[in-house]
Amino acid sequence: MNPSPGDKGNLLEVRGLRTWFPIRAGILQRVTGQIRAVDGIELNVRRGETLALVGESGCGKSTLGYSLLRLIESQEGEVLFNGQDLCSVPPDELKDLRRKLQIVFQDPMAALNPRSRVRDSIAEGMECFGIGNNDAERTQRVAELMERVGLDPRQMDRYPHEFSGGQRQRICVVRALAVEPEFIVLDESVSALDVSIQAQMLNLLQGLQEEFGLTYLFITHDLGVVRYIADRVAVMYLGQIVEEGSADQIFESPRHPYTRILLSAVPSVNPDERTRPLRVQGEVPSPSNPPSGCRFHPRCPDAIERCSLEMPELETRPEGGVRCILAPE
Ligand code: SF4
Repeated sequence: MNPSPGDKGNLLEVRGLRTWFPIRAGILQRVTGQIRAVDGIELNVRRGETLALVGESGCGKSTLGYSLLRLIESQEGEVLFNGQDLCSVPPDELKDLRRKLQIVFQDPMAALNPRSRVRDSIAEGMECFGIGNNDAERTQRVAELMERVGLDPRQMDRYPHEFSGGQRQRICVVRALAVEPEFIVLDESVSALDVSIQAQMLNLLQGLQEEFGLTYLFITHDLGVVRYIADRVAVMYLGQIVEEGSADQIFESPRHPYTRILLSAVPSVNPDERTRPLRVQGEVPSPSNPPSGCRFHPRCPDAIERCSLEMPELETRPEGGVRCILAPE
C-alpha cells in the first residue's frame, strides 16, 4: 500500500523497492536474465509494532529483510527510516543508521564466531558504535543484558558451542540489543527451536519490545507463530506483497486467495472449526520468469481470464490492502 509521506506513525516506509539478481551464463558470464526476488514492494512498518512477513519459502521475504538493512543492495526504490532514505544515505551517515537497524538470523551457530567468547561477540558491536566508555562499562552492560534474557552472566567467557540452541539465540538477541537498536529484523529467528523454547523466546521478544520500545519485522513461514506475536501481517508471493492488514483481519477474514490457502493449513484450536487444508495447485513459478498478469493466476482457484492479462495493483487503504481484482470489499 502507498505510505503517506512523513506519517509519524511509521518508523519504516518502503516505496517501490526492487532487488533483482542477474543470471549469468556462458564463458563470458553474460547476463541472460534476472531473478526478481523483490519486485516493487510498498510497505509501512509502524513504530513499536510487530509486522509479520509471511509466505512460502523462496517468495523473497528474507531478501526483502536484507534489502531493508542494505545487507543486499537494491536497484530501485526507497527505504525511509525515520524519514531518511537508507538507499541514498552517504556512507559516513550510514554507520549510525546501521546501529539502529539490527537483525537476528535463524541459525545462531552460523551468526556467532565460534572462536570468540560470548562477551567479545556482544561487546564488539558496542565498541564499533562507540557504546560504553571503556571495556569495564561494556562488560557491565553485557552482564545486564545477559541476565535480562535469562542467561547467566558468569558464563560470558564461554564459547558459543558451550550453550544450547535456545541459549545461543538469546546471545544473538543480546548482541542486537547491545547496540541500542530501534528496529530489528527477526529472520525465522525462532523456527529452529523446540516448541517449548520457541514459546519462551516469543514471550521474551514481546517483553523486550515493550521495555526497549522496539519495532520488529518478523519473517516467518509459521503462521501459528504469527498469530501469537504479530500486530499486523504482510503476505508475500513471488516478490510482491499480495495482502496486508491487521493480524485479526488477516486471520479472521483474509481477502486474497493465497492468504486463504496459507491459513487453511493452520490447525484451529477449536476442533469444531477444523477444516481440510486447501491445496494450492502446482509449483511456485520461477521468479526469473513470473507469470503475466496476476502472478498467482496459474495457481489460483478463483482465477478468471482477466487475471492472466491484468496485473492487480496493491489496494491502498489505511487499514491494509490486497492485490486481487476479485477481492471482496
Ligand atoms: Fe486469483 Fe485473479 Fe485475484 Fe489473482 S487477481 S488472486 S488470479 S482472483
